[in-house]
Amino acid sequence: MQATEAEQNNIRHNTDPAKVVLGESGLYHKSLCDYVINVATGCSHGCKFCYVPSTPNVTARQEMLAEQAAVDDGQQEWGSYLLYRDDLPERLGRKLDRKQKWKQTARGRGVVMLSSGTDCYQDRRTAQITRGCVVELIDHGFPVRILTRSPAVVRDLDVFEWAVEQSQNQVGKLIRVGSSIPCLDEGQVRAIEPGAPSPQARLRALRTLSEAGIPVYVSMSPTYPTQTRDDFDQLLGQFADLKAEVVFHEPINPRGGNFQMTIDAAREAGETTLAKELERISNDREYWVEYSLKQMEWAEELGEKHGVDVHVWPDKQVIKSVGEKKAQELLRQRDAVSPERIATPSLPS
Ligand code: SF4
Repeated sequence: MQATEAEQNNIRHNTDPAKVVLGESGLYHKSLCDYVINVATGCSHGCKFCYVPSTPNVTARQEMLAEQAAVDDGQQEWGSYLLYRDDLPERLGRKLDRKQKWKQTARGRGVVMLSSGTDCYQDRRTAQITRGCVVELIDHGFPVRILTRSPAVVRDLDVFEWAVEQSQNQVGKLIRVGSSIPCLDEGQVRAIEPGAPSPQARLRALRTLSEAGIPVYVSMSPTYPTQTRDDFDQLLGQFADLKAEVVFHEPINPRGGNFQMTIDAAREAGETTLAKELERISNDREYWVEYSLKQMEWAEELGEKHGVDVHVWPDKQVIKSVGEKKAQELLRQRDAVSPERIATPSLPS
């Protein structure tokens, strides 16, 4: 471990020596972005279902994690290490100055997302890196999507207001800010998103931004198998009040080495109904498909009731498990472009 490594609140902090600045992303499949910037490796929120520790950014970097933060197992120890990329804004600015081409797919629309592999406002230091990156991107005329569970995002309201001003001559806006709010039950959320702020705090942050004229959206992902139609009704009513441009919805998918950890965490926290339901969708494929279809239908139906656009992300395995007609409907929903009005990137002349 290097001398700069430090431990606070049981989280090991250090720096990530990676030189990657701006990564092309496959998240255009979800109509989210064409590029991603991850301001850190690791995430102190430690959501048990998080897919990030099973991606190559963690699995292929075990040696670096051991060296920088004494991590033995990037998945098992997810939530207990955080490696910052402090010089990202500076390197990003230089990269954007030189950039001659910009990827712009029909569904990704040239958007840069911060962040898909960590929470970009989880503490002061990630927030500082994020702020610097957003300023560089907007200054160069590239659209930005923020996704965070942290209410600290409101501290950058001045930057977001400036980004909206910079979009004045465009049909769409250069900035949008979203939060992941899948469930409002504080106990269940605490059980499987143990380090993340409460859902009410996330809602309040989005409300503040929306009232200030910043475009906001919600990632209602992943919704829990214990949630009822009434829960969805309440959630979508709240998102409509926020004037969210769109609500992305996805049921939980029982895959990866972390799913048993999710079940165990729910059980250990005393959320036995949640633990039982998670176990059932993990062991019974038909039950999982049924739950997924039911929740996506509720999201669509209740989105319509509350006048909020819902964009669902059906899982590939769910699409394969249904009849031809339903599969076509799900594919249409999956391949749609989100209704957000996004500014066109300024391509180099
Ligand atoms: S906030 Fe996002 S990146 Fe962080 S642990 Fe949760 S799901 Fe993973």
